[in-house]
Amino acid sequence: MLVLVLNSGSSSLKYQLMNPQTAEVKATGLCERIGIDGKIVHIANGHKTKTDHNMPSHKEAILNVINILTHGDDKVINSIDDIQAIGHRVVHGGEFFDKSVIVDEDVIAKLESIIPLAPLHNPANIMGMKITRELMPTKPNVAVFDTAFHQTMPASSFMYAIPYEDYKDFGIRKYGFHGTSHYYVSNEAQKLLNKEESKIIVCHLGNGSSVCALKDGKSVETSMGLTPLEGLIMGTRSGDLDPTVVTFLMEKKGMTGDEVNNYLNKKSGLLGVSGISSDLREVIEEAEEGNERAIITIEMMTNRIKKYIASYSAILGGVDAICFTAGIGENANLVREKVCENLEFMGIKLDDEKNAIRSGEAREINSDDSKVKIYVIPTNEEYVIAHDTYELVKG
Ligand code: AMP
Repeated sequence: MLVLVLNSGSSSLKYQLMNPQTAEVKATGLCERIGIDGKIVHIANGHKTKTDHNMPSHKEAILNVINILTHGDDKVINSIDDIQAIGHRVVHGGEFFDKSVIVDEDVIAKLESIIPLAPLHNPANIMGMKITRELMPTKPNVAVFDTAFHQTMPASSFMYAIPYEDYKDFGIRKYGFHGTSHYYVSNEAQKLLNKEESKIIVCHLGNGSSVCALKDGKSVETSMGLTPLEGLIMGTRSGDLDPTVVTFLMEKKGMTGDEVNNYLNKKSGLLGVSGISSDLREVIEEAEEGNERAIITIEMMTNRIKKYIASYSAILGGVDAICFTAGIGENANLVREKVCENLEFMGIKLDDEKNAIRSGEAREINSDDSKVKIYVIPTNEEYVIAHDTYELVKG
């Protein structure tokens, strides 16, 4: 079976054509600048091409993707009929969805009703589903949610300490995100630990970052909240701060709610503090040259992760394994080193040599006498989406 995995953003569309039974990736790519001019980066048959396309909307983007997959030098399938199902990444499933579902009118109506919870992401995700249902009417579509995995959190973790009726009336609560990644990585960690009962902390550190505490494979706490802004310091997002900063900014700078949202989501985080870049590699380079702001940025970012690890260990009543994943977690040994520094009192001991090794494989990087395992586990969100899709449609 071949599943087309789609991740629709406001002006972009990531795609991957995958066999969910073998995890073989036939082709992968990204449509960028949809509605502006349109570019497709396509990787298939061992090489990468970048081409310009007319893409006034996501519909033309998906049509172009189907065309690239089925025609020309980089074709990987003979026709659209070789695609058996489409798996869609959906950012927000609210409280409606605690697992992946086959898309129908009811699912779309529910997702439309919670657009206010994810105004930037859900409209694009819904649009992607509507287009593939129109273009490939006989193929099943599956929605896989970033939030669903965290629906196992107890109320004591997901409630905010605000008047209860606002949770009931407006759904103001913590939902958590990166669910497919936390699921995949914790599942791989559980295999490495080889025990059923487990206490695992996953640090998904990329452009967007979140930590998840898992008991016996289930999410019990996570750092992102109502939206993906809460928690860790990210590329351009502030993460946790005193909510009064919002009203203070509105008073002092005359900012509107939308402007503050933009400021905290797009202008803060690594970029805002360092003034250099949202890309950690550039911040590290400047820190190595002695740039004070870059040094402070890295300290702030790694201390925040450390605080979450320590507090989640307390919530779990101990920890068997800490996992690092995503762009920063998989590649930045400096970050892993700083996060684990001074946590020896908790039985967390990094092996510096193992930590310095670069590899695309899942690996253990703790010292032999560490009570807690420390793993680097490359995430694979597309595989989870393709696999969930396969499980739902195989019958
Ligand atoms: P992701 O969102 O998972 O693709 O992660 C993207 C982020 O990973 C980039 O913004 C980089 O800051 C970071 N990254 C990737 N490679 C490295 C590296 N070798 N060292 C530090 N950061 C890295």
